[in-house]
Amino acid sequence: MKTVIIGAGAMGGLFGGLLAASGQEVWLVDVWKEHIETLRSRGLTLEEKGQENLIPIHATTDAASLGKADLVILFVKTYHTEKAVMDSLGLEKEDTVFLTLQNGLGNEEVLCKRIDPKKVLLGVTNQGATLLGPGRIRHAGWGKTYLGELDHRMTERISTIAHAFQKAGIETEISSDIQSLVWGKLLINIGINALAALLRIKNGQLLDYPETRQVMELLVSEAMEVARRKGVRVEGDPIEKVMAVAEATRTNRCSMGQDLDNRRVTEIDVINGAVVREAERLGIEVPYNRMITNLIKVIERTYLQG
Ligand code: NAD
Repeated sequence: MKTVIIGAGAMGGLFGGLLAASGQEVWLVDVWKEHIETLRSRGLTLEEKGQENLIPIHATTDAASLGKADLVILFVKTYHTEKAVMDSLGLEKEDTVFLTLQNGLGNEEVLCKRIDPKKVLLGVTNQGATLLGPGRIRHAGWGKTYLGELDHRMTERISTIAHAFQKAGIETEISSDIQSLVWGKLLINIGINALAALLRIKNGQLLDYPETRQVMELLVSEAMEVARRKGVRVEGDPIEKVMAVAEATRTNRCSMGQDLDNRRVTEIDVINGAVVREAERLGIEVPYNRMITNLIKVIERTYLQG
């Protein structure tokens, strides 16, 4: 299976490195030239549990030079997806599969604007990684990856991908209700990311104040109502889960926080912003999610203007 990963940052590098190390044919594609040059000349340095592995890997800045692919995995930040999809259209043949494992809601909709929905797969991953510098990545978190067909079917192609992931040491399950798992992770990001980012605090500090706990509950409750109205099944008690994740990741600065710290655009549009959009479609109000989305958008804009 020829796999092309678009976006060779923290997660693209992690999945690409693990798949390549297991003997799969993998190509990493990124717009960052220095990173790609390092990957080509030295390979990918993957830090894992205090050890360093050097993994030889194919890499390019030009997806169009790669011919056709069996599997294309999207691992750019969500605000780059449309451009990344356009750049990767040349990889498509009759049975190419496009898989998004990005965070947030609506990634498959962006793919389906350009690609036949029958070729699109949706996933959610609880793996974590950090990009340390050109050609260097740290495997920072371990957890299951879930894959699903948009029409809930169990297919041979999804089994083949899951098998390849498993062989690479990426614990993977196929789900017949992938949207419910996407929402499960989304609800956690909704309760933690924007609030911790705005307040410039670490995840665990959200639990230290009754005020922040209250806002977390309000954000998640609004999103749960949207999920309920959309008929999405959400397992367990999401508010309890959000609190548990904030505790388990107490010392982490969430990715949206790191984005604001570094004056970068965030993925707010696919997290709290996506709840606002879905609520508008349903004709209901989600004032807390709207407010936090607007605040993050204004901060982003001040950076861009600066
Ligand atoms: P990242 O910023 O480390 O990597 C993204 C890469 O995409 C960058 O190297 C960038 O140069 C590249 N890129 C941008 N536009 C491109 C284009 N048009 N073509 C090719 N490459 C392009 O981001 P990340 O942390 O790997 O996150 C990727 C996605 O995975 C996000 O949606 C994120 O929310 C999600 N995710 C991240 C983690 C994590 O632990 N880092 C965990 C789960 C999910």
